[in-house]
Amino acid sequence: EAYPLPRLSPLQKLTTDLCKDDKTIKDLVVGRRVGFYKVRGEIGFGTFSRVKLAFHALTKDKVALKILDRTRLDSHAQRLLSREISSMECLRHPNVVCLYEVVETPSRLFLVLEYAGGGDLHNRICTETKLSDVTCKITFAQILSAVKYMHNHNIIHRDLKAENVLLTSTGCVKVADFGFSTQISERSDALDTFCGSPQYAAPELFREECYLGPPVDVWAMGVVLFFMVTGTMPFRADTIGKLRRCVIECAYTVPPWVPGPCQRLIKGILKAAPDERYALDQMMGCNWLLPVEFPWSLVHPEPSSAQQSLLH
Ligand code: ATP
Repeated sequence: EAYPLPRLSPLQKLTTDLCKDDKTIKDLVVGRRVGFYKVRGEIGFGTFSRVKLAFHALTKDKVALKILDRTRLDSHAQRLLSREISSMECLRHPNVVCLYEVVETPSRLFLVLEYAGGGDLHNRICTETKLSDVTCKITFAQILSAVKYMHNHNIIHRDLKAENVLLTSTGCVKVADFGFSTQISERSDALDTFCGSPQYAAPELFREECYLGPPVDVWAMGVVLFFMVTGTMPFRADTIGKLRRCVIECAYTVPPWVPGPCQRLIKGILKAAPDERYALDQMMGCNWLLPVEFPWSLVHPEPSSAQQSLLH
């Protein structure tokens, strides 16, 4: 089965058009340059990718360059990549990593991504053990805003976890990694497949129910919230079988020192039945989050004019 990659994005076309001597994108991938991006050091590794820091040669904007070796991509990996690109192409939100463009050569594929230089939420929680109440509120409000936006655009992430919540150097949330994402309308395709990390997986995934919709993201947000507030995971077990039982039975305990409004939010989200779980709008109106001003205008400055021109 072939999973064709989306056509050239307008930005890639722009890069090609800007190339005065009319070279193709392929010719632009030379040495430590990819299109208009000057490649610098390594940032991280994925199963099929290397991620490097790069700078736009004209605007000097930092980007994360995700590099994939096409010859190593089996059909499963191609499918994940295709989903990642097509979901990210539809999403433009201050709390979602922006895909600026895709550069292709016969052997490699380069995803030019918005750079999040503050590490990921998992590392931050592990380093600081437990985040302050106000940091938890601001971080969760941004995750909530990102997920609401995705669901409004009919996209379910399906792999929400603290590792996929990247942070900028100012603490602004950037949700990443859309490889398991899917369109809500694609029911027949993959809404009935188990994906994501077991510790964040909703009971309906373990029960192998056939309709898995947006509530799987809501559940994962509950796990992230629990982890952020307490520094521990709500469901822990040494085998997958035991974990499955804990999740299906919704066997977790919120420590008594967690503020009451936050406890109520966690309990409203981590409910075994998907249709009893809080809706995103209910979360937005919950007492615990109410004092939070919508934070992105404070922590996320308006995109620079150079970034704006990349986006339009
Ligand atoms: P896997 O492919 O196994 O699921 P992954 O999703 O973490 O792993 P990548 O998306 O390739 O793989 O990311 C690898 C690492 O690169 C991440 O763990 C993160 O540290 C870093 N990274 C990815 N995207 C960005 C970004 N936009 N800004 C900053 N760092 C990033």
